[in-house]
Amino acid sequence: MNELKGSEGGCLCGAVRYRLEENPMYIQACHCTDCQTVSGSAFVVNLWIEKANVARLGDPPVSFMNTAGSGKGHEIFHCEKCGTDVFSKYHASPGADLMVRAGTLDDTSGVEPMAHIFTRSKQNWVQIPDDKPDFKGFYRVRDLWSAQSAERLTRLIKQTSGR
Ligand SMILES: [Zn+2]
Ligand SMILES: [Zn+2]
Repeated sequence: MNELKGSEGGCLCGAVRYRLEENPMYIQACHCTDCQTVSGSAFVVNLWIEKANVARLGDPPVSFMNTAGSGKGHEIFHCEKCGTDVFSKYHASPGADLMVRAGTLDDTSGVEPMAHIFTRSKQNWVQIPDDKPDFKGFYRVRDLWSAQSAERLTRLIKQTSGR
């Protein structure tokens, strides 16, 4: 993974700004129909990172609570002024984490999805690179992530649950 620690990003109008204080734990492209609808595109690229490692530099985003395929909330944070979606919180995920929309980084050149998920609704013209895993739905973190990233997520879940 390219170094994204220290990278900054924000919404289209510049009111919502953030800085990644650490590299993401994982980068994935989601081809689910909700991601297609909300982005108006074929998929969303998410940087999965601890919420505490996303420093807020500008206005606080507002959120809209959608229901994810899991049945749990999918909270989408956007700029109140220009409407750009910047973060998501999937409430099925127990830790204090965020999905940062990779396209909102000032410099997106270092970002490549490490896996592709919900490819059952992928557009036919999207070709998944041969060396990247893809899943019809979701996957098991421990099957895919580096030991270091999996450890970060485990630690985050333990912190959040107060143990
Ligand atoms: Zn904005
Ligand atoms: Zn999705």
